[in-house]
Amino acid sequence: MEHNSSNFIRNIVIDDLETGKRDHVITRFPPEPNGYLHIGHAKSIILNFELADEFKGKTNLRFDDTNPLKEDIEYVNSIKEDVKWLGFEWDDLFFASDYFEEMYNRAVLLIQKGLAYVDDLSAEEIREYRGTLTAPGKESPYRSRTVEENMDLFTRMRDGEFKDGEKVLRAKIDMASPNINLRDPIIYRIAHATHHNTGDKWCIYPMYAFAHPLEDAIEGVTHSICTLEFEDQRPLYNWVVEQCEMESKPQQIEFGRLNMTNTVMSKRKLKQLVDEGFVDGWDDPRMPTISGLRRRGYTPEAIRTFCREIGVAKANSVVDSQMLDHFVREDLKLKAPRTMGILRPLKVIITNYPEGQVEWLDAEINPEVPEMGMRQIPFSREIYIEQDDFMENPPAKYFRLFPGNEVRLKHAYFIKCEEVVKDENGNVIELRCTYDPETKSGTGFTGRKVKGTIHWVEATQAVPAEFRLYEPLILDDQEKEEGQTFLDQVNPNSLQAVQGFIEPNMKEAKAQDKFQFFRHGYFNVDPKHTAADRLVFNLIVSLKSSFKL
Ligand code: ATP
Ligand code: MG
Ligand code: MG
Repeated sequence: MEHNSSNFIRNIVIDDLETGKRDHVITRFPPEPNGYLHIGHAKSIILNFELADEFKGKTNLRFDDTNPLKEDIEYVNSIKEDVKWLGFEWDDLFFASDYFEEMYNRAVLLIQKGLAYVDDLSAEEIREYRGTLTAPGKESPYRSRTVEENMDLFTRMRDGEFKDGEKVLRAKIDMASPNINLRDPIIYRIAHATHHNTGDKWCIYPMYAFAHPLEDAIEGVTHSICTLEFEDQRPLYNWVVEQCEMESKPQQIEFGRLNMTNTVMSKRKLKQLVDEGFVDGWDDPRMPTISGLRRRGYTPEAIRTFCREIGVAKANSVVDSQMLDHFVREDLKLKAPRTMGILRPLKVIITNYPEGQVEWLDAEINPEVPEMGMRQIPFSREIYIEQDDFMENPPAKYFRLFPGNEVRLKHAYFIKCEEVVKDENGNVIELRCTYDPETKSGTGFTGRKVKGTIHWVEATQAVPAEFRLYEPLILDDQEKEEGQTFLDQVNPNSLQAVQGFIEPNMKEAKAQDKFQFFRHGYFNVDPKHTAADRLVFNLIVSLKSSFKL
């Protein structure tokens, strides 16, 4: 597998190996199973796995499942599937909840060292007492409890004697620290909730800031890579590792999280879109989730290239979502078979073509990859063309069909529009054309030239299909007004479904097969809504964009 291009984290690792600070590398990808993975997670996955891989190290998949209220086995399973689909194999699979006993023992150690105490203040009071950036915090009246008292209360917390919120365990560090994270952070709280892994065994749960460094240390992680918002927590991370007397000393390194235009990238917001019915599940093709991107038709190769190209920086950034589109186009260009599909059909009768006759024409599967061979497509007296490939009163420089004009049918013949058939409301419902047998594609006809080439599908054998056309889910080029949330930016036109026709050889297309439909773009066979008698295609990307790398 290709490796990370140079980045500052890689440089730290190289340095650690050269100076002998480390003799091996262990990284981890530590998702909380409280939602599906998104493209931001992909960046973290790729960074962690490729870094360890480059230095013959290991990467673990660890479920950071210390909050029973939001976590679920459904998420655990989807995360495993997504990591594998992205092309990575973890060395070990861990659940943070398997360390609850050990974490409890480390908390007891802190109590015994006089470095943790049980506090009876309410959550609100604790927040108040914590102070601000400019004002020091105030010590809790319970801060001076004795070790015996703290041991007794913490044991009773574990035994379920108290209600949620009644008591917490706090690290005793420094209420005057300029770093607010060090002002006696909460390290355990009470939650009478069933955990997806440990069931009802526990009613106290460690807080992230306490649990995460312990998890890393227990697993012998050397480089614990996380996103920038944890930078201020690094001193606490180190304090926990040190004071809990962990043998292994992981190093936390922060990098800028990935943000993209025209989407939201937080599990909380994505869950809201799902729960409130804005989308058809976590794997809706408009979602930036890995499962949504997969269903839309993005490839793991394109996602990996994208993540490598955006690089790893110490600052947060917003990446143009068209950049991801660019890489999927690049990836599919040589892989996807070409085909023709009509999204909005207009019937054309070729009046001088013999009735009842069908001929089979040869067409390249991918002209850029001749080895992919040829396909056969039927041609007859009745075909469908795209409604917008015809105009009754065209503007100047319109080279497609209009009365009296001649165009080339891709892979077939020149046809000329002779007559327009309308319904009683004046809508064009059919065209009558003639064809010129001399102009057959592949015969080298040079007698005359036409300026327009259009695509088509033979009508009697055409297979009906649904095409789902997508626009960005979130319209973020406009400032939100006061009181508005991201839900006010949801694009009402993000999905449009049209019923069209495809070539008969496409009947066999299977879920997740990808095609380039001539002039329309790349499409993926939807794995969820495609049935034996009903093919559904998701637009992955159109063919062209103004995006330049
Ligand atoms: P969210 O805010 O979407 O819930 P999270 O950070 O809470 O994300 P976790 O499950 O804790 O989600 O994430 C697992 C790993 O993925 C963490 O190491 C986290 O830093 C990383 N990660 C999450 N979002 C991004 C992102 N947008 N860019 C890069 N890395 C990310
Ligand atoms: Mg998290
Ligand atoms: Mg989160």
